[in-house]
Amino acid sequence: MQKVLSKAQFPSFIEGLLKSYEVYGPVKDKNTKFQKIGSSKELYLDTVTEIPAKNIFLPEHEVIVEFKGGKASERQGDTKKRVIFGLRTCDLNALQILDKVMFDPLYLTKRKNTVTIGLFCEHPDEFCFCNSMELVNYYDLFFYPQKNEYYISVGSAKGLALVKGLPTAKKEVKIPHPLNTKVLEEKNIEKSYRNKIWEADAEKCLSCSACTVDCPTCNCFDIKDQLEMNLKDGKRSRCHMSCQLKSFTRVAGGKSYRDARLSRFKHFVYHKLVYYHKHQGRYMCVGCGRCLRVCPTKIDWVKTINLLDSMETIKKKGGKKKE
Ligand code: SF4
Ligand code: SF4
Repeated sequence: MQKVLSKAQFPSFIEGLLKSYEVYGPVKDKNTKFQKIGSSKELYLDTVTEIPAKNIFLPEHEVIVEFKGGKASERQGDTKKRVIFGLRTCDLNALQILDKVMFDPLYLTKRKNTVTIGLFCEHPDEFCFCNSMELVNYYDLFFYPQKNEYYISVGSAKGLALVKGLPTAKKEVKIPHPLNTKVLEEKNIEKSYRNKIWEADAEKCLSCSACTVDCPTCNCFDIKDQLEMNLKDGKRSRCHMSCQLKSFTRVAGGKSYRDARLSRFKHFVYHKLVYYHKHQGRYMCVGCGRCLRVCPTKIDWVKTINLLDSMETIKKKGGKKKE
């Protein structure tokens, strides 16, 4: 089902949501990011955000257990009713990927109480390659701008509740793919793990972890305990962690299983395109381009893959060599 909202009514639609929900949307500050807003005027809808929406569900630091007088109590999930407006198709697919791997009550409670509203991506930039990543429709509502109005596709009962007062579209509009995105070619990268082509990228890598911080599907975390002097009170927190840091695989005795920068760099790419695919039947990358956009040394692993020998090309499904 599609509903129709005139662009002139858009500000009052958002103001209406603000009466009953915490509303988050893309804003432009030092960076572009998803943030809680107090008015539709704060929204910045021109481009995909540099910082993804995952931080709403997985904050950089989150207390998960508190200790008082030697007794531990788990933090309860946040039940505030939220709407996130302005998620691009890549952002929505990234949430679907997180939904497959995050099972704890803190994450699940927030997700359950959040309505996701997508927005068609009118201005992909030179880093976006979402059209190469087999993305799916996954939203409560999805806004597709036309001349003077938005056509709003309804994806769930939660979404419908927000737009039930709006007129239904007489004729539904087909939502196209975003135009002119970069292409990630189909290559058998599994067989190219030892290809020397990766070395040039790894040599440029600073292990700064900016790529994993901004990636909307990276979800690795560390657990940190903070104890008070009395050793009876304290907190246990979940904090973002990155596979690009040496300490990520350090174990007792000091050994690190991905000591070499090359193996850490390749792990990022192979996790996104090979390992997750084997378990879940889809890529863990949504082609948002954030890791390429943020990289201080301009590493472009999409370009690197596209340079791999075309003889290694396979069909994505079936794994057979192309004739
Ligand atoms: S952002 Fe670039 S330099 Fe930093 S860890 Fe990622 S690939 Fe390496
Ligand atoms: S790997 Fe890069 S392009 Fe893919 S989802 Fe993560 S940040 Fe986006």
